[in-house]
Amino acid sequence: MKVALIGVGQAGGKVTERLAQFDADMGFDAVQGALAVNSAKPDLQSLEFVDTQLIGADRVNGHGVGGDNELGAEIMQSDAQQVLSGLDGRVTSKSEAIFVVAGLGGGTGSGGAPVLVHELQQVYDVPVYALGILPGRNEGALYQANAGRSLKTLAREADATLLIDNDAWHEQGESVEGAFETINGKIAQRVGLLFASGEAVEGVGESVVDSSEVINTLRSGGIASLGYASEVASDDSGENIRTVMTVARQALLTGTSLPDATTADSALLVIAGEPETVPRKGVEKARRWLEDETESMQVRGGDFPLESDRLGALVLLGGAERSERIEEFMQRAREAKRAAESEQTDHAEEFADERLENLF
Ligand code: GDP
Repeated sequence: MKVALIGVGQAGGKVTERLAQFDADMGFDAVQGALAVNSAKPDLQSLEFVDTQLIGADRVNGHGVGGDNELGAEIMQSDAQQVLSGLDGRVTSKSEAIFVVAGLGGGTGSGGAPVLVHELQQVYDVPVYALGILPGRNEGALYQANAGRSLKTLAREADATLLIDNDAWHEQGESVEGAFETINGKIAQRVGLLFASGEAVEGVGESVVDSSEVINTLRSGGIASLGYASEVASDDSGENIRTVMTVARQALLTGTSLPDATTADSALLVIAGEPETVPRKGVEKARRWLEDETESMQVRGGDFPLESDRLGALVLLGGAERSERIEEFMQRAREAKRAAESEQTDHAEEFADERLENLF
């Protein structure tokens, strides 16, 4: 799937850069253009492999918006035209989708991404998706509250929002900050493989996944998740059937970007590996297992020919918002917002309209 990427904010820029790098290193050529947009100049200066664009210089002078996502949204609103012009030549007639990438808990990305998605929807006919990073459980209340509002608006504006939970793809016990590099690397590899798996390869069989299957899986809209797992392939085809089942299970149950999201409206299973090691029977068996597990009637399956001594499974779920994890997160976001509001309450003023008279 040929995509254009726009990273908004710090996490958005870093992840976009990693995705562009992975795609180039692997020679996939799925990423057609990548741009990082931020209101904080130092965050843009640390990026080396993508073009960058500073926004909101008249308001915050390159210093960023802190955790103020409303300001992030306002800045994007004012500078949207400038960002859209910056996309000239990056979103081309070959582009099949646009991804706006952002950390949802901060300011610039949290507020700016939903606004940018809205603006892009007015201009382009291809689907506009969000790739959103949810704050981990231990990140502060402001992150949770910001991410809740950002996610709600993204779900309204984007054709689908692929969520990566910051708690999902790092080792237990490792701090989230310490794990950023690891997480970003995994996002780049896994989402990068998804982009590339939708690239039709000339001269290969019809079991190979193409872009329309990725787009159709995301057509149900709402929240999407991506799972991945891999194991070494064998010379024995019976063994490879078992391996395909194992990696498909792991991808959904333990390797997912959104823990506990297993029911969905639609799903796509991609088995990546050397064509002679990918067992058709195994792919079909795993696809049927995924149908049962997700309780979806719309489960697509296919292969992605790749030079590798491993067999990998990618599981993309579409319409996965009914998961416990999302419920739990939205609950945390609501609580954080209520707590922030009660801190702002002027208690003296609250007493002002009580029916008691003051003593003097
Ligand atoms: P912004 O620059 O104002 O948009 O704010 P950030 O992009 O720093 O967003 C903060 C959120 O993104 C928090 O939930 C952070 O945990 C998360 N975050 C920041 N940097 C990274 C990163 O490099 N990788 C990942 N996975 N998350 C990040």
